[in-house]
Amino acid sequence: MVNCPNCGTTVTTAVKCWTVSPAKQAAYGVIPEFRVGLFKCPECKSTFRSKVNNITQHLETKDVKILAEKVKDIHEGLTQTLRFLREKINALETERQALLMEIEQLKKVAESRANTLEVEIKQLREEIKALRELLGVDGEAKWPL
Ligand SMILES: [Zn+2]
Repeated sequence: MVNCPNCGTTVTTAVKCWTVSPAKQAAYGVIPEFRVGLFKCPECKSTFRSKVNNITQHLETKDVKILAEKVKDIHEGLTQTLRFLREKINALETERQALLMEIEQLKKVAESRANTLEVEIKQLREEIKALRELLGVDGEAKWPL
């Protein structure tokens, strides 16, 4: 809070604030920097500049609170996203497991079918052999199959 140098009215908020770093002094570490505000008096409408240490501190505390809340929000958002992703990954892994099991079952079905076919082919070859012997056909090349 500052007082108007013209009429003495208390002005609470600065129109504009900025940090001043006196380069020479800052280099020697005497006065690092300070905040200056541009004020407009609500009574006499005059504008003036003043150091705003107290106001700045007040605003910074408020800013820190707002920042902390934002960080909390972001953290909560991240936690939710993580939970969602974890659930999604779990669901996907379950689905992957189910698909792998299905593939395994289909492989077994295919294997047993291949085995059955092999047995059938073997039986058919034996039948052909028996028929050839019965008909007295010798030599496979002569047989017009
Ligand atoms: Zn004034």
